[in-house]
Amino acid sequence: TSSLQMELTAAIRNIPDYPKPGIMFRDITTLLGNPRAFRRAIDELVHPYAGTKIDKIAGVEARGFIMGGAMAHQMSSGFVPIRKKGKLPHDTVRIAYSLEYGVDEMEMHRDAITPGEKVILVDDLIATGGTAEGAVKLLTQMGADIVAACFIIDLPDLGGRKKLEALGVNVHTLIE
Ligand code: 5GP
Repeated sequence: TSSLQMELTAAIRNIPDYPKPGIMFRDITTLLGNPRAFRRAIDELVHPYAGTKIDKIAGVEARGFIMGGAMAHQMSSGFVPIRKKGKLPHDTVRIAYSLEYGVDEMEMHRDAITPGEKVILVDDLIATGGTAEGAVKLLTQMGADIVAACFIIDLPDLGGRKKLEALGVNVHTLIE
């Protein structure tokens, strides 16, 4: 375990039995509120792409917006929000995705990506990978060239990384 991983892990708060009994929620608001940990996490997420022109960062509502905005600024890229259904005002593409219990739908603006653009997907955490898989499918439908999917936290036992890698997506995470 590196000092970076120890610092990030220490900055994340663990909330037992949230949102349901038996679930240990990894709360990154404490990391976001810690100036040094927030900067180090963003620096580490963008580091592999230094010197690569990334057209757009696509962030998953809502924590992916916070990280994605910081990454887009650092990389001089645009930012594309992927939102829960019904929140975006213009023409959208929509996809159903699986949650732990049941399904939901996410969408993005149809004109948010130009075919062939290099895109990095970001969210705070990958668990089963259902959310990220939905986002990857939306971006692929719009012709994005997905360079990588980035997360601060991987919960490897839940298989999300493998699910994305099986779709041919590079996965970049900071801590398990
Ligand atoms: P998945 O679709 O991979 O099963 O779940 C990942 C999605 O649920 C992400 O959008 C992530 O923000 C959210 N999520 C699930 N569990 C946690 C958790 O313990 N902490 C945080 N911060 N987000 C979680």
